[in-house]
Amino acid sequence: MSAGASLGGDVARAIDITDLETPCFVTDLGALEANLQILSGVMQATGCTILLALKGFAQWSTFPLVKKYLAGATSSSVAEARLAREELGGEVHAYAPAYSDGEMAELVTLADHIVLNSPAQWRRHRKAIERAGRSAGLRVNHEHQEVEVALYDPAGPCSRLGTTRTNLTAEDLDGLDGLHFHTLCQVNSDALERAVAAFEAKFGDFIPRMKWVNFGGGHHITRPDYDRERLVRVIREFRARWNDIPVYLEPGEAVALGTGVLVASVMDTLHNGMDIAILDTSATAHMPDVLEMPYRPVIVDAADPGVKAHTYRLGGMTCLAGDVIGDYSFDRKLEVGDKLVFLDMAHYTMVKTTTFNGVRLPSIATHDPVTKRITVHRRFGYRDYRDRLS
Ligand SMILES: *Cc1c(COP(=O)(O)O)cnc(C)c1O
Repeated sequence: MSAGASLGGDVARAIDITDLETPCFVTDLGALEANLQILSGVMQATGCTILLALKGFAQWSTFPLVKKYLAGATSSSVAEARLAREELGGEVHAYAPAYSDGEMAELVTLADHIVLNSPAQWRRHRKAIERAGRSAGLRVNHEHQEVEVALYDPAGPCSRLGTTRTNLTAEDLDGLDGLHFHTLCQVNSDALERAVAAFEAKFGDFIPRMKWVNFGGGHHITRPDYDRERLVRVIREFRARWNDIPVYLEPGEAVALGTGVLVASVMDTLHNGMDIAILDTSATAHMPDVLEMPYRPVIVDAADPGVKAHTYRLGGMTCLAGDVIGDYSFDRKLEVGDKLVFLDMAHYTMVKTTTFNGVRLPSIATHDPVTKRITVHRRFGYRDYRDRLS
């Protein structure tokens, strides 16, 4: 996360949080549009098609803006495919490690492209997909690793994601239109270039039979140091080698990178070996990637511990002992009611929150950079907790 660590600092300072309720996710529509324009520029320069991966960002109140620039969305479940169809429109693509017959019956009514994880899944669902007139593809695994954290590496040993070359025969591909690989996470275009080379080395003999190829997600295209010239060259050269075959990219994180903040308030401060502050947000319930990834979110006007005069351990309001966001220092003492602004919180947060401990989910808002107004689109309460249980 380091390269993108302070992403969105300017955005955060432009948002007036004085009267904002907390906890609240606020996405800046100007920053989102700037990302979308970058992605749209890549489409224009290469002729590729870029889809939003809903897994990473599904704040559907922003979709009227998203649909101006992107061709559609990709989904990892029937529910995401339905959200794409009902709230975004355009092309709907789908992939999951496995689909049940019931799920497939619904998915074929929603998705244009359906990517299966194995030849057995293709054989199982072929009739349903063909009857509905949908385009089917196979996720392949070229086994070339670019991701250091095993939790996010689909190309590692014994991966269940995608079919490896040794498990694939030419007959398995009968009736399929496309090949899909997804082996990247938060990487620059040099990693994509190596992944494409690995894909061609392993599966190049099958590409001429295909109508499309999908390079998956994990491309950090909107990060300031991302080499977009190389991305454009890699896609153009690939298409030139393979008879202008249509290429899809499906970034999630890159769409929303640096576009939103999570605003929280200090609820209490105490001392036990060091100063501690309890916030009205939670690492485990509101930003689980802080613990899962793990990473250290950047907070506006805060520094590493010991750098500024007052160091605090910031913790959440759940009972989990490890619900700690990290240690940070501030210029002045934290007081109850102080607001803290966590940067780069639009992606992999709202889609991953839980109601663990019954804690309230953060409200979801957008900020209009022209009018400077914040619109709260959704507030959560008791029913959202109760309705997940029975
Ligand atoms: C997660 C995922 C994406 C999006 O990945 P990002 O890292 O958010 O760009 C795209 N395609 C597939 C198949 C995925 O699993």
